Amino acid sequence: MVFDVVSLGEILVEFVRKEKDVMHTVPGDYVGPFPSGAPAITIDTCARLGLRTGFIGVVGADDFGEMLVERLRSDGVDVSRIRVDRESATAMAFVAYRSDGSRRFVFTLKFSASAKLSSNDIDPDYVARASVLHVSGSTMYISKLARDACVKAVEVAKSSGRVVSLDPNIRLELESIERIREILGSVIKYTDIVLSGEDELLMVTATNDIYTAIRRAFEWGPDVEIVVVKRGKKGSLAVTRSGDAIEAPALLVKEVDPTGAGDVFNAAFIYGYIKSWKLDRALLFANAAGAIKVGRVGPMEGPKSYNEVVELAHEKGYEF
Ligand code: ATP
Ligand code: MG
Repeated sequence: MVFDVVSLGEILVEFVRKEKDVMHTVPGDYVGPFPSGAPAITIDTCARLGLRTGFIGVVGADDFGEMLVERLRSDGVDVSRIRVDRESATAMAFVAYRSDGSRRFVFTLKFSASAKLSSNDIDPDYVARASVLHVSGSTMYISKLARDACVKAVEVAKSSGRVVSLDPNIRLELESIERIREILGSVIKYTDIVLSGEDELLMVTATNDIYTAIRRAFEWGPDVEIVVVKRGKKGSLAVTRSGDAIEAPALLVKEVDPTGAGDVFNAAFIYGYIKSWKLDRALLFANAAGAIKVGRVGPMEGPKSYNEVVELAHEKGYEF
């Protein structure tokens, strides 16, 4: 089987606090389990949009793992490389929102099945069958094993002439910013497309100015061809190495649960890239996909199909 996109990394269940400003230090209600994990969200959304996809990851031999594999399978992702590890539990995350929009997480990732993803899980033939390999920095902050798996995957993809996309997805709960920079350094040299949240790119490149941050990203990764910046309610921005810069406004919707919007956005942008769309079209499509996600509870509950994204763009008055 040939793939458009393969991704690898954490796949987990997420529980969301029902009420804002109730942190994890006190008893209260959560809803879930919702399927999650940054690379898993991106690959699942790619599949829903109609791309041929495969995922490499590890779950525990428990109900959560079963649910996750079934979810990806039913959306069309090849799950033959998701391993069931009998010695560990499927990863979990608990998220609580504050009224100012900020989030607080409790992760079990470092002690979970997802932490056991290793280089042995990376079959070079499998990775080389995909046009694009998508990597999330978050995977590399979990364990040395998972980091080595990502490095092996990007090396294979690159040496096979494939395109590598990277979302730094920083997780200060898992690693310090200094360590995150070092870790990203091991894959940025193989990266063609950077997809990053605005604040994250500023933090990683140690500046307050987004154009300086973008310039630093191009200097850091010699093969980086496009830097895409996700700006929440402000939409997104894409800059190419040759200097083209395109901005696209967000499609305003009622914000219900923004977690996962960035990962859904990544999937839709990659879709446009694979279809060789112009950047403005790819950004509009990705903004629309992100907006759909923001309006729904659950990090993986973005658009169900290509048509749904196009319909939202039309509804908001865009020609597509
Ligand atoms: P995360 O890592 O939490 O998933 P991110 O920082 O990677 O998020 P965001 O910029 O928050 O990414 O969201 C991705 C995209 O989703 C934005 O570029 C925008 O197009 C869309 N989006 C996000 N928030 C909103 C919103 N409130 N209204 C409309 N669109 C939004
Ligand atoms: Mg993100």
